[in-house]
Amino acid sequence: MPDIEKLIIIGSGPAGWTAAIYAARANLNPLIFAGRAKQIPTTELPGGQLMLTTEVENYPGFPHGITGPVLMSHFASQAVRFGTRIVSDRGIISEAAPEGTPAFDWHDAKSVDLSRRPFKVVGEDDAVYHAQSLIIATGATANWIGLKNEQRLAQQGGGVSACAVCDGALPIFRNKELAVVGGGDSAIEEATYLTKYAGTVYIIHRRDQLRASKIMVERAMNNPKIKILWNKVVEDVLGDKSISGVKLKDTVDGSTSELPLGGLFVAIGHTPATKFLNGQLELDEKKYIKLKDPYRTTTNVEGVFAAGDVVDSVYRQAVTAAGMGCKAAIDAERWLAEHEG
Ligand code: NAP
Repeated sequence: MPDIEKLIIIGSGPAGWTAAIYAARANLNPLIFAGRAKQIPTTELPGGQLMLTTEVENYPGFPHGITGPVLMSHFASQAVRFGTRIVSDRGIISEAAPEGTPAFDWHDAKSVDLSRRPFKVVGEDDAVYHAQSLIIATGATANWIGLKNEQRLAQQGGGVSACAVCDGALPIFRNKELAVVGGGDSAIEEATYLTKYAGTVYIIHRRDQLRASKIMVERAMNNPKIKILWNKVVEDVLGDKSISGVKLKDTVDGSTSELPLGGLFVAIGHTPATKFLNGQLELDEKKYIKLKDPYRTTTNVEGVFAAGDVVDSVYRQAVTAAGMGCKAAIDAERWLAEHEG
């Protein structure tokens, strides 16, 4: 008989680690697939999107702010302190990575088999783990345009970001000319938010019509600080240590131009990390995991719970993900108490 874990958590953003903290304190001895840091694409790091954020100023409890990577190593250390175990190149370990550093030897979960209990989780080295319950907290990654300089400047805190709510209030953006790429609700919301701090906020959209809802479009049109640049795509991001502007290409006549900027926010949607589930959990039309009950973390498969951005296309905040991680651990604990043995 293989070892059967009580609970395996997949994902190590705020939702995954918070679930681990609660589950460990409930003596569930959780095992976590925290994910391997990948150099390319740069958005894939254990610790989720916060690993790409510089200063986090809206996570309660840190009145002077904290960097995303340090916040995530605090989450990990706290989870390990109460007995969370991590799948790694060195086998199953009980230690977190040093503060603020991505852990290059932690493992990804490659696939799952939810057809019967105990569930199976296959690691990246093909090792198979068994568990009575699972929490899926694999998050969603912000989509990037895919330009080399966009990634370089985003990584070095050079004024390129995929989250205005996280980064927009930073001093480097104050009273600067900023731009948001995208034409959906997020782009409008982010542009509107940025007008609190910025000079002019340009919305760079590839078509001549916004995808955003009517009310959001009206809001943008009526805001004197927002200017929409229609039919434009960003061809390159300019600047060495920090952004100085973007090179734009007109999608109608092909002409190019430069726009000086002090900050660029990419808001072209998110992709939830649900592919590895291979259709075994019910997803919504945007591929986010569908919860059975919106107030709980239950999925359509009994014993499988989901939390954080992998189920949430609306709020997408570290604190909301952490809250859901807590709920998932409590849901799993109660479910195990009813079904164990
Ligand atoms: P979205 O609705 O998918 O919009 C993405 C936008 O980015 C589209 O305008 C798209 O252009 C553009 N885009 C995609 N790929 C691009 C690329 N490679 N280069 C340039 N532009 C690109 O995503 P979202 O705005 O993040 O919204 C996601 C969901 O959350 C939506 O359902 C939205 O209603 C909801 N949401 C709601 C609120 C709110 O109600 N307050 C706020 C935020 C989000 P095209 O239009 O040409 O395809």
